[in-house]
This record gives sequence, C-alpha cells and structure tokens, in this order.
Amino acid sequence: MNIKKTLFENIIERKIPASIVYEDEKIIAFKDINPISEGHVLVVPKKFSRNLLTIKDDILAYLMVKSVEIAKIIIKQKGVDGFRLHVNNEKSSEQVVFHTHVHIIPSRKGDPKWKHIPRGQKVY
Ligand code: AMP
Repeated sequence: MNIKKTLFENIIERKIPASIVYEDEKIIAFKDINPISEGHVLVVPKKFSRNLLTIKDDILAYLMVKSVEIAKIIIKQKGVDGFRLHVNNEKSSEQVVFHTHVHIIPSRKGDPKWKHIPRGQKVY
C-alpha cells in the first residue's frame, strides 16, 4: 500500500485487494466492502479527481454512462428492478474517500424509504 495515494488509487494499482467486477482503461468498478444493499458497487475513474466539484467533464460523462451500463447488468443479475446512483461530495455530504466514486445501489420493492434511512447507518 502507498500511503501517499488514495485508497482507491491503491485498489487501481492492485496494492489493496478488491472484488473487481469491471475494468477498462478509464474506470474500475468493485464491490463496496460495506454494502448498503446486495450488489452495491463503486465505480471509480482511474484519473484522480477529489469529487464532482473538480472532475473534468469528459471523465464525468464517461463515468455516468458506464455506471448506468454496469448498474443495468447488476440489477439483471440480482433480479431486481431498480437502482440508485449516489455520489457524496465533500465531508458535509459524508464523503469519506476523497477520490470520485459513484455508488450503484440496487433497490428492491419493500426497501426502507431512502429519506427514512438513519444518517450514516447501513441497513442491510
Ligand atoms: P463515501 O462515503 O461516498 O466516500 O463512500 C466510501 C465507500 O467506500 C463506503 O461505502 C465504504 O464502504 C467503501 N469502502 C471503503 N473501503 C473499501 C475497500 N477497501 N473496498 C471497497 N469499498 C470500500
């Protein structure tokens, strides 16, 4: 592990293990270590940006297109009909890892209402 790099850069460089589900030259997607729901995956651009406040437009566009593409595959595999894409930006929004990432969170009928999930608490 390189302590000068972000956690996700260490995953990209294979210094820290992760359960990788997709990778190409621009992004990597791996399972969240503490999933909110079954199939929770993080999609991370390989080129560093702190969050959506500083990401370049072309990388953002690619990240979003690929996140939806990966989400569609995940929900089909999991046999559910919906998902959320979620991005935290800065501490006030509970961003913990300061390297842009999109959460893909599959959703199921009967899940707790999003607004009713206690802050900071994983429900599954
Ligand atoms: P955020 O609050 O948006 O910064 O989310 C960071 C996410 O990274 C959390 O959902 C964590 O569960 C997840 N996470 C932290 N460490 C790892 C890891 N080593 N592998 C996969 N996911 C991780």
